[in-house]
Amino acid sequence: MNFKAEGKTVALTLDLCGSKRDGLDERIVDFLERNGIKATFFVSLRWIQKFPGAFERLYKNPLFEIENHGTAHRPASLNGRSVFGLRGTANSAELYSEVAQTADAIEQLTGRRPKFYRSGGAYYDEFALLQINDMGFRAVGFSVFGDGGTGYSANTAKKAVSKARGGDIIIAHANHQEKTSGKGVVAGLELLLQDGVEFVRLDEVLE
Ligand SMILES: [Zn+2]
Repeated sequence: MNFKAEGKTVALTLDLCGSKRDGLDERIVDFLERNGIKATFFVSLRWIQKFPGAFERLYKNPLFEIENHGTAHRPASLNGRSVFGLRGTANSAELYSEVAQTADAIEQLTGRRPKFYRSGGAYYDEFALLQINDMGFRAVGFSVFGDGGTGYSANTAKKAVSKARGGDIIIAHANHQEKTSGKGVVAGLELLLQDGVEFVRLDEVLE
C-alpha cells in the first residue's frame, strides 16, 4: 500500500503492539524528536494501559499522529484464523470490539478520534475489510517492511528502511528497545534524511 506522493515524501509508521516484554524504543523516539520527523504511531489498547506515561509523551507531541492498533492485537478476520502466531478475531462482534474499544479509548485520552486502523500482523480478510470500512475507519497496510517485525539485524533494517521512495509507507516497531533492529531503523532514517526525504503523517496523505 502506497500513497500519492509529491516528490520525496515518505510516511513512517511505527507499531506499539503491547506484546510480551515490550516498552518504548527511545532510540527511535528521541531521534524523531531531535530531527523534527513526523510519524504515525499505531498503538494497541494493551500498550496504552501498560505505558500511560510513554503514551502521553507521544500524543502530546504535534509531530506524531496516534492511530488504532486494536485492543488485543488481533489479525482482522471473521473466522479466527491465526496469522504469524496471532489468533485472529473470531467473528464480527469480536472485530467490532477490537476496533471500536481502542478508537474510543484513544479519543477519550487524546481528544482526537483515530481515522486509521492497523490490525495485529497487518492482516485483514476481505469481510473484515468491509466491516472496518463500514465502521468509518480505513485499514492500513504498508509498502516497506522496515524491521522484519523487529526480527531484522541492525544492518538489514538499515538497508530496508533506506530503500523507501516517494509514496512509500514504512512499517517498523517502536516497542522493543532491546532488539538491534531499532538501531538499524534509526540508521536507515538518517540515510533518508541525507537524501532529502520529507516525512509525512498518514493523516496528511491518506483520505
Ligand atoms: Zn503490532
